[in-house]
Amino acid sequence: MKITEVRTHLLEHRLETPFESASMRFDRRAHVLVEVICDDGTIGWGECLGPARPNASVVQAYKGWLIGQNPLETEKIWATCYNALRDQGQRGLAVTALSGIDIALWDIKGKVLGQSVSMLLGGRFRDSVKAYATGSFKRDGVDRVQDNADEMAAHKAAGFHAAKIKIGFDVEEDLRVIKAVREVMGDDMRLMIDANHGYDVVDAVRLGNKAADYGIDWFEEPVVPEQLGAYADVRARQPIPIAGGETWHTRWGFVEPFAKRLVDIAQPDLCGVGGFTEMRRVADMAATSGIRLVPHVWGTGVQIAAALQWMAAQIPSPVRPSPVAPIMEFDRTHNPFRQAVLTTPIEHENGVVQIPNAPGLGIEINRDALREFAMKDD
Ligand SMILES: [Mg+2]
Repeated sequence: MKITEVRTHLLEHRLETPFESASMRFDRRAHVLVEVICDDGTIGWGECLGPARPNASVVQAYKGWLIGQNPLETEKIWATCYNALRDQGQRGLAVTALSGIDIALWDIKGKVLGQSVSMLLGGRFRDSVKAYATGSFKRDGVDRVQDNADEMAAHKAAGFHAAKIKIGFDVEEDLRVIKAVREVMGDDMRLMIDANHGYDVVDAVRLGNKAADYGIDWFEEPVVPEQLGAYADVRARQPIPIAGGETWHTRWGFVEPFAKRLVDIAQPDLCGVGGFTEMRRVADMAATSGIRLVPHVWGTGVQIAAALQWMAAQIPSPVRPSPVAPIMEFDRTHNPFRQAVLTTPIEHENGVVQIPNAPGLGIEINRDALREFAMKDD
């Protein structure tokens, strides 16, 4: 069995109402899917986290190390590709592109062996997972406090048990948002805050101390991801558990954060950390370090399906009963192709998502949607 072709599918939707995190403005949704085709007709799908066009370029750059290889040799292919770009790679796009390839290869492996990826990873601890709603970005032309409160009311009505809101803009305004959403949620729902590395240490410590009374599960990306010393400072000087890691790549990216205990909750992203192959290693490191792992998820149905396969197989600690069962990040912002790329959308029901158990990622791709949302040149 050999790989004969590697394709990338750039997808895009231009937003009528742009929105912002503390670090990025979104005037469009853009993602890239990876399609790996084999000589026996088997096709695998993956997705890369981050800027779509640059990711697609790096996926194509790996092509020479993929064509003619046996797709079942996932470790060998990962090591070969990583080594090929190692000297100028090691993280960033070199790894996010490789992540999309690796996920597609595991999809192929599952289809060839007639098993879901979660079974290949060692078995399913769970067939469903609780989802938490991610949203509450800053939107143009609306009152942020009221807008976030209204959105939280919708999450609650939809049955979510937890939700994550965006902060990192202005400490006092952020505190007004936190107060308003907590009032809407009541005490039963879990609340997480994500600064998207918009603060420096001074503001992160101030916000953390003032927000602690609102019952917050975690404070995500308080400062820029390269400032590991700043992470240590924020964790030590305010009481909310610190989360981070969506932009830390490969096992090497987590060595120092774990050794120095810079986060309470690690958030590697399957489509960024290096795919299933590397996620397993980071999860083992987190487990040996006593650090909770809650994967980051931000993409189309392909990434959602991959994350669900991972979470089905994610080893709880202690094994049973576990108070820290994984929770699934469920992006609630506008993206018309997120589910349209799948023939069968993966939705939540009352805040719970069922995990497919068909071979591979357990999904079928809707090629009409790939054409409809294909990125235009500009
Ligand atoms: Mg985040």
